[in-house]
Amino acid sequence: MTDTVKFTLPENQIPKDWYNLAADLPSPSPPPLHPGTGQPIGPDDLAPLFPMALIGQEVSMERTIEIPQPVRDIYRQWRPTSLHRAHRLEQALDTPARIYYKYEGVSPAGSHKPNTAVAQAFYNKEAGISRISTETGAGQWGSALAFAGALFGIEVEVYMVRVSYDQKPYRRAMMESFGARCVASPSEETAVGRAILAETPDSSGSLGIAISEAVEVAAQRDDTNYALGSVLSHVLLHQTVVGQEAMAAFELADDYPDVIVGCTGGGSNFAGIAFPFLGAKLRDGGSDLRIVAVEPKACPSLTRGTYAYDFGDTGHLTPLVKMHTLGSTFVPPPFHAGGLRYHGMAPLVSHVHELGLIEARGYDQLECFEAGVTFARAEGIIPAPEANHAVKGAIDEALRCKQEGKGQTILFNLCGHGHFDMQAYTDYFAGKLVNQEFAEGEMAMALAGLPSVASG
Ligand SMILES: *Cc1c(COP(=O)(O)O)cnc(C)c1O
Repeated sequence: MTDTVKFTLPENQIPKDWYNLAADLPSPSPPPLHPGTGQPIGPDDLAPLFPMALIGQEVSMERTIEIPQPVRDIYRQWRPTSLHRAHRLEQALDTPARIYYKYEGVSPAGSHKPNTAVAQAFYNKEAGISRISTETGAGQWGSALAFAGALFGIEVEVYMVRVSYDQKPYRRAMMESFGARCVASPSEETAVGRAILAETPDSSGSLGIAISEAVEVAAQRDDTNYALGSVLSHVLLHQTVVGQEAMAAFELADDYPDVIVGCTGGGSNFAGIAFPFLGAKLRDGGSDLRIVAVEPKACPSLTRGTYAYDFGDTGHLTPLVKMHTLGSTFVPPPFHAGGLRYHGMAPLVSHVHELGLIEARGYDQLECFEAGVTFARAEGIIPAPEANHAVKGAIDEALRCKQEGKGQTILFNLCGHGHFDMQAYTDYFAGKLVNQEFAEGEMAMALAGLPSVASG
């Protein structure tokens, strides 16, 4: 074992293909259904929203899908990202574990999101689309798509969850700097937004509501498509550059993870780092690799949700997808990890959880900030509040190793920096942050409204 701090691949080792876990799974993930007919949806149902290339990737069973050269060329601006060994964090924790993190905060938008934003903008441009509407939670996805839109000359319109719009004004400024338009959601601009505002004028918004607004806008105009920053299989696919690079970097390190940890909002950064390793485990067997998904206790889709067909959005404009859900009308409390405030989970992540291939656990807001501060003081990088969940998960694994006297290797995805989230840290230091309660009753009400789907 070396004492190297960061393992960096050369540019020509940016992966040439995305990795598709669907090819290696023991059973296929249940298909999306049309809410009207209850039948599996076809490409034509999705054509008003997405370019055909992405619809094809959504259902592909090919193990590898080639990354277009123009996309790889743009990736070169920040990829390959380094695999860091957290020597000083290990010392601070006095653990025999070896802790590694893949740092995605070096992208132009400051998170893993440009990995898919650039690909999605590319395919939309190829399909002749001039405008994309989308939602954003904390603003990471909106900034990533705004950046990608600027590169390809595509107009970008972002519906930003109200609470984040108010908490994170600089994210909005970033989107506007890239030329995008940013609207607080729920807004008066869509039928869905107006209906929600009529009922709840002070709605703090949610990703489920913002998705409805963006889908409504895209469905109405031929020149406009919709883009989603997480959840869908093609988004998870694009993020697998992270895990593939990590695998190659571990060869440089002459090491291999025993545990992989990622935070889960919709599941894309988690899938991105974990799926290539999971695929290798499924193909080769024999590995004891554990994979841990970490989510907020206040929005616990994987740990507390029901595995069922549900709408991806609050306004019920999307197909039905089978996932761990808190109910599509569940509005999570306004904690700071805005990217983790989604009522559902990627169907593919839900499926592998159901198959017992991954573990899931929840943490409270305060213990995640505490972990993030411990990490920042040791490693000098301030994580995004979402990423703090992965940091907390990794620290707990390292402390378990200490207790058991085991020198295991832990890898986590440091999926973004927190430079636009300093108000959250300020509030944390001032003692103003609280652990938001999970609204049991609200989940029960939202789950009572699950659509009925004929089984079998
Ligand atoms: C968007 C985002 C998330 C949540 O989305 P996933 O699809 O679950 O990755 C987590 N962390 C950061 C930094 C994000 O920008």
